[in-house]
Amino acid sequence: MKKVALHWKILIGMVLGFLVGFVLTKMGYTNFVKDWIGPFGTIFIRLLKMIAIPLIIVSLIKGVSDLEDISKFSKMGIRTIVIYVLTTLVAITIGLTLVNIVKPGEKISEETIKELKADISNDKEKQKNLDKKLEDAEKQAKKGPLQPLVDIVPDNVVKAMSDNGSMLKVIFFVIFLGICMILIDKEKAKPLKNIFDALNDVIMKMVDLIMLFAPIGVFALMARLVAETSRPDLLIGLLWYAGTVIAGLIVMILFYFIIVYFYIGKSPKFFFKGISPAQLVAFSTSSSAATLPVTMERVEEHLGVDEEVSSFVLPVGATINMDGTSLYQAVAAVFICQALGVELTIGMTVTILATALLASIGSAAVPGAGVIMLIIVLESINFPSELLGTGIAMILAVDRPLDMCRTMVNVTGDATVSMLVAKSTDNLHEPNPKNLDDHYQAAN
Ligand code: ASP
Repeated sequence: MKKVALHWKILIGMVLGFLVGFVLTKMGYTNFVKDWIGPFGTIFIRLLKMIAIPLIIVSLIKGVSDLEDISKFSKMGIRTIVIYVLTTLVAITIGLTLVNIVKPGEKISEETIKELKADISNDKEKQKNLDKKLEDAEKQAKKGPLQPLVDIVPDNVVKAMSDNGSMLKVIFFVIFLGICMILIDKEKAKPLKNIFDALNDVIMKMVDLIMLFAPIGVFALMARLVAETSRPDLLIGLLWYAGTVIAGLIVMILFYFIIVYFYIGKSPKFFFKGISPAQLVAFSTSSSAATLPVTMERVEEHLGVDEEVSSFVLPVGATINMDGTSLYQAVAAVFICQALGVELTIGMTVTILATALLASIGSAAVPGAGVIMLIIVLESINFPSELLGTGIAMILAVDRPLDMCRTMVNVTGDATVSMLVAKSTDNLHEPNPKNLDDHYQAAN
């Protein structure tokens, strides 16, 4: 019998999860979905997060210590950062262009704005959530200009390793360690290198096995999401805004396809087939950090990127490259200004471009992080503080579905850049996919 490809299984899980969540919620079984189905989604996310840091450590040590000379690494590092910045600028420009053409803010009625505000202020939980976001943004904005640089260097590496939000700190330490492994006597470094090489294979196998659970995991995540969406009617009022963000994200995906086709010479079908399981996991988890193990496995085994490149480009990308998030921030910032009658000058638009770039670098790779940085983008253009709460309240109703879509683009962007860097440094080869089912059989 022909095996069903993993991305189809995940997609079926997602659709079924949506339907089951919808039907059970309509029948009044919301708590059943939350208590008896939802936890399987949490387990899936935990499994992925559980191996994220160990995977970064072993694959990056392997990647760096495999390098013959260190100058190769700095070449790759500079290229990666430059391409990340460029793709983010493209994303923001697409967002700004679309939002200025469609003008979704002018299409939203006073009535809807009032309703969206009331939906938050009548619900203690939602109001608390909004206040927390405003508070987090304030804390973030207080940091000095060089703080992001300081934040890369850990003062306690064991502590950093115990926190999934400290990925850059871990990356810094691991690169340092890998470089020193090249610098000492080869024979002495060898046993250590062998251990990390072996561990790397073991952890990649763990990713394979966790992915066998993916269709059930995303089923549960989708069902719970539907059960937790309290006012789907509010989504209608924000259709123009959400449509503009989604149109921008689709253009961005097309942009990746074009690059992959013309620069790398691979068809969109090849790219899509290789990366789609990671895209679907990103969509259902809304977290590029949780998706990272899947992205790494897909990029290495299905897109043909050497581990030397992927082990550096992808973890860094998951933390600093968020094309989908920056595009969304540009659209959302202008949409809020349009809707609340705040006039935007060219200077303010340029400021949005610059801060959305920095904000996407600073956004954590977790659900909802983009909104916190959006507050900072708005503050950078001196958005009236008395309207800030209303502005953010307006877009929160559709934030989760948009978060799912933008996370998918974030992950696709990282994969595209890893292929670009691999191609430009001669580290791209024909993929040698290890079939997951083969792995499963091997595991039995
Ligand atoms: N959820 C996004 C990510 O993890 C970040 C965001 O846009 O909120 O990539």
